[in-house]
Amino acid sequence: MSPSSEPGDVALAIHGGAGRIVRGQVPAARDAELRSAVARVLSAGMTALASGARALDVVQDAVAALEDDPLFNAGRGSALTSEGSVELDAALMDGATRSAGAVACVRGVRNPIVLARRVLDDGRHVLLAGEGAARFARECGVEAAGDAWLITEERRAELASARASGRVSLDRDEPGGLGTVGAVARDVGGHLAAGTSTGGMTNQQPGRVGDSPVVGAGTWADDGSCAISATGHGEAFLRAAFAHEVDAALRLGGLTLRAACDHALVRVAALEGSGGCIALGPRGDAVVAFNTAGMVRGHAAAGRAPRIGLYAGEG
Ligand code: ASP
Repeated sequence: MSPSSEPGDVALAIHGGAGRIVRGQVPAARDAELRSAVARVLSAGMTALASGARALDVVQDAVAALEDDPLFNAGRGSALTSEGSVELDAALMDGATRSAGAVACVRGVRNPIVLARRVLDDGRHVLLAGEGAARFARECGVEAAGDAWLITEERRAELASARASGRVSLDRDEPGGLGTVGAVARDVGGHLAAGTSTGGMTNQQPGRVGDSPVVGAGTWADDGSCAISATGHGEAFLRAAFAHEVDAALRLGGLTLRAACDHALVRVAALEGSGGCIALGPRGDAVVAFNTAGMVRGHAAAGRAPRIGLYAGEG
């Protein structure tokens, strides 16, 4: 859809993963930590948007802050592969131009969303993976990070338990587990942007890539339709072409943003997947949709108090 943006109110939504986040099962301290992390990132992003920052920059900074927080499955504190390594996926998309940059299976980088931005700005390619992405990171001078930064004790313990029971698990399958992160924003110029970042699934096969870094699956932005960041069972979101399905339902089907997100989630559920998304429409209208017990999320718009939630029925 061609951009049809108008200047106006700014808006920002972020998420920290969807899953078995059940009221009463998340320890009170963890509940409080998650809410305050979301509040901090929302507040910094809204301040930047109010002073005229671009949606693309605000999304990048919000995702980078969440990557640095070991509470979430992205950057520091990422889920570990079956070999105990960290393989990072991230994507960033600019709704004004539909420029996109993404990285998959990249190792040794502190903020994969920053590397995705370099891919976007470089403009030759959309998605770089593995060693080629790591080499590009070195060439661009993107900050490196070793296991001492990226790997936390909590993640080692999760891998040990996943190995013991022979399962490959999403954080989201663990009660109160830590999740993938994402952000969507609308800036004062009316432009949209979206970004998503993840360490994937605990005990996943090395080389496995989910939906997060795939444009049209886990991440999407077009000023004329919507900005989306998804979280959930990556294989089902890939097979549903999730974010593209929302976009197509808006453009071709004439659905509202809420109906389009719900419709795309039904397609994911039909493939036995679960998860959710945050989305913004062209005028900054926000939708949070999920078919799991909960989703760590928050959204804010000019002149309104931020809304933060973890469980179904709040925020
Ligand atoms: N979608 C991510 C993946 O499959 C995981 C998540 O959102 O929790 O890699």
